[in-house]
Amino acid sequence: MESDPNSLHPCLSCGACCAGFRVDFAVQERSDQGGCVPEGLTVEVTSTISRMRGTDHALPRCAALTGVVGKHAACGIYEWRPSPCREFAAGSEACERARLRRGLAPYPW
Ligand code: SF4
Ligand code: SF4
Repeated sequence: MESDPNSLHPCLSCGACCAGFRVDFAVQERSDQGGCVPEGLTVEVTSTISRMRGTDHALPRCAALTGVVGKHAACGIYEWRPSPCREFAAGSEACERARLRRGLAPYPW
């Protein structure tokens, strides 16, 4: 099925992965360490690992996520997001798991 070029990307009505997993990355990706991820949205895990704030809560939700999961969602730091977010694949097994946990239909729907 061809997608409508005028329609929004499916992730913009989801956001489940940004409210479902711990997001850890190397401290070098942080803005205060020469990287681009805004430091204020991160927490230090170890001397070498940082984490997106909020992703290790009992009900995880990344501090950079805007909107309502399953309705409209966006990354507030899209251009500056850390590598795990850049590498996360829509339609992957982890994506499906995150959507399932939120009661959302499999990708693409
Ligand atoms: S940084 Fe952006 S893409 Fe990564 S988990 Fe947070 S909201 Fe999602
Ligand atoms: S869970 Fe999948 S469909 Fe939802 S925002 Fe993440 S990658 Fe996109």
